[in-house]
Amino acid sequence: MPSPNPFRFLVDDAASMSTRTIRLEGDLDERVDLGQLGKLAGARMRIDLSGVTRINSAGVHRWVLCLEILTKGRQVELCRCSSAFVAQALMIPNMIAGARVESVFLDYWCEPCEQNEVVLVASVADLQTRPQCPRCHSVLEPDTAGSLVEFFFRRAI
Ligand SMILES: [Zn+2]
Repeated sequence: MPSPNPFRFLVDDAASMSTRTIRLEGDLDERVDLGQLGKLAGARMRIDLSGVTRINSAGVHRWVLCLEILTKGRQVELCRCSSAFVAQALMIPNMIAGARVESVFLDYWCEPCEQNEVVLVASVADLQTRPQCPRCHSVLEPDTAGSLVEFFFRRAI
């Protein structure tokens, strides 16, 4: 039976001459062959994780092994990490080991609107700035304490 949310690799060489961007989309689980990523990798690569919708434990295992291979002798940037990816990486820091995290999507809550808001955060400074609700302009409450998320932005030398 076909997966309801099949995994896809989308290559974008247009943004930068030197860094290939690969966007991952779909559910990351035991059906996904991440070996394809290695074949697509250049000397530098950027992985856009905004389309990763769900990750199970088999998917986490595959991802960690894949990243370990990809980051050997290569600069890997993870950008636009989805909330699903962030939730897992908070528990399993190996999910970002060896890579540089450029930006992550975090969940915030607007009390007056009683609605969830997803905000793209790209630095520790961003974490310290409370974003505003696009509807009512109230200050949003983070779902996850900033101090827990800071490790995403520690830069490896
Ligand atoms: Zn609001």
